[in-house]
Amino acid sequence: MDHIDELATALARFPGIGPRQGKRFVFYLLAVSAAERAKLAELIASLGKNVRQCPECLRFHNGGTTAFCNYCSDKTRDDSQLMLVERDQDLAAVERASSYRGRYFVLGGVLTLSGKGAIREKELLKIIEKRLKNGLKEIVLALSATSEGEHTSDHVRKLLAPWRDNVKISELGRGLATGSELEYSDAETLRAALTNRKEF
Ligand SMILES: [Zn+2]
Repeated sequence: MDHIDELATALARFPGIGPRQGKRFVFYLLAVSAAERAKLAELIASLGKNVRQCPECLRFHNGGTTAFCNYCSDKTRDDSQLMLVERDQDLAAVERASSYRGRYFVLGGVLTLSGKGAIREKELLKIIEKRLKNGLKEIVLALSATSEGEHTSDHVRKLLAPWRDNVKISELGRGLATGSELEYSDAETLRAALTNRKEF
């Protein structure tokens, strides 16, 4: 395989990117300066060094010397609520809406109707056990209003069934338009969805 094809194929594996776009990226990279390419390569190479995964919520953060992210290490946040989101970007969207002060857990994806995809089940169950000892009262399912989001939400509710007597399980109100991903919801909509969350 030639160099252009090899890089294009690597880029085509990115979420939402196909072979044609992969190739467009390569030609874009050929058009920019060598210094710019080197900078990009360096940023990618240093991701593993400078970014760490929080052992609590499993989101990626600019670690510095602390293992836990700023939300998990913030003592002023509400231990009685735990919000489950699909991805790091969804957590960021909820933070931008700035009306939620509880804890988070990032599921790491969704389950598709065809049985593909995976979420961090084992880690989730572990964190719930831990959070229950810290006064957890409510688990808020904050998944996208897509068929995959709903499918995942159903699955997670089944997983949480053993704790139903100890903890309230709620879901974001569907002020979110059908088909919308949490990540792209505006702050106002997210605040309303949070206020109007419904209990199972
Ligand atoms: Zn964290």
